[in-house]
Amino acid sequence: MKVYKFGGASVRNAAGVRNVVSIVSKEAGELLVVVSAMGKTTNALERLVSLSLSGEDELMLRQLNDIREYHYGIINDLYPCGHQFLQNKIEVILQHIHDICKAVEKLQPDYDSFYDSVVSCGELMSTRIMLYVLDREGQENVFLDMTKLLVTDNTFREARPQMSESEHALRTYIGQHPSRIYVAQGFIGGTRDGKPTTLGREGSDYTAALLANMLDAESVTIWKDVDGVLNADPRLFPDATLISELTYFDAVELAYSGAQVIHPKTIRPLENKHIPLYVRPFLSPDAQGTVIKDTTAKPIDIPVYIWRKNQVLVTLRAKDFSFVLEDSLNRLFETIYRNRLKVSLIQSSAVTVSVCVDKSRYLDAALEELREEYKVTFNEGLSLLTIRGTTPEIIAAQTAEKQILLSQTTRRTARFVIKEEV
Ligand code: ADP
Ligand code: ASP
Ligand code: MG
Repeated sequence: MKVYKFGGASVRNAAGVRNVVSIVSKEAGELLVVVSAMGKTTNALERLVSLSLSGEDELMLRQLNDIREYHYGIINDLYPCGHQFLQNKIEVILQHIHDICKAVEKLQPDYDSFYDSVVSCGELMSTRIMLYVLDREGQENVFLDMTKLLVTDNTFREARPQMSESEHALRTYIGQHPSRIYVAQGFIGGTRDGKPTTLGREGSDYTAALLANMLDAESVTIWKDVDGVLNADPRLFPDATLISELTYFDAVELAYSGAQVIHPKTIRPLENKHIPLYVRPFLSPDAQGTVIKDTTAKPIDIPVYIWRKNQVLVTLRAKDFSFVLEDSLNRLFETIYRNRLKVSLIQSSAVTVSVCVDKSRYLDAALEELREEYKVTFNEGLSLLTIRGTTPEIIAAQTAEKQILLSQTTRRTARFVIKEEV
């Protein structure tokens, strides 16, 4: 079995959906197709969550209607006649979203679980549409409901998959429903007691890797709006060049540094089973793209530039002027972990530790806790630039006229926390 993953950009309109069907139809063997929510639907659902929590009913209904019209628009473009059946299927999901948003006050749920029950519906809608279109094209396929088959813990918004339980559920279901093509939602799962969960924003790549690991797939292909993994984000460096081969190790470093093209959690489940990962362009499906695997014949021989956005630099100074010793570091990182902060860089001196983290809604609570032990200062609106394979000339060119708050260099890599949003 192969796993193909299609992100939101690939299914953002009817032409995109037709293109996905054409790519899937060209594959002759068993295929598991993982699909994200269409276009920017996840962002739209996030706004819906905020509006219903702040009690802005009218705006909430308008937002839900925008989501409805966006999906109906795609369905109408796909099937100018005879789309009622599919529209009804989507309406059931929209009605469900409406009901939970309306009941939010009565239920008094915690924010994260409410978020997951609404936001997970984006992928449920996109896969319902994909299932139907594949059917109409004569491509036999079976729907895999990840809220039941990808079992997770109840860390809502960042749920952790329970691998052996999920593998058992998946293999049993697939065994009972043999098909050439399976369609699964990226990004979402469900707790043992049936509550929907999400794995963290942009998590569909991760889903593809998890499913490939559990089903011992021969490969994973993530189809993107770029030629493959490039030496920089083409939105920031228009001359970015394709890297045709990468090791898992290099790929993890790139993803962790902030290269949005692969979700950082994607690599481990694949590396553990030596499953190759292909990153290929959905607009030129015959192009080779990038392959990521155990070893490569040629190491990367061009500089790589990676921007990690939305950074906050937190500096901690021990209140009692004591050295930041191991036990204090231990407590520091325990607090960071418990508050779900994502660390992108660490630097320490005798009495201070600086930690660069992604901006997050949990940051204030974490800082509050840290203030008990440390004097805390922080800077927002920052970016972290990582340059691999760098030279003094490159560093000078990239950092000229920029306000650098912190830098860290090794033989191969230079990293700069910059006062600038990208
Ligand atoms: P998906 O459709 O799967 O959600 P994303 O939009 O999350 O895909 O990721 C693709 C985007 O990642 C590209 O459009 C590109 O702008 C960005 N990107 C950032 N860094 C890189 C890189 N090093 N190589 C290729 N693309 C990159
Ligand atoms: N739809 C989710 C998001 O936008 C997951 C993904 O696209 O990977 O974050
Ligand atoms: Mg994405």
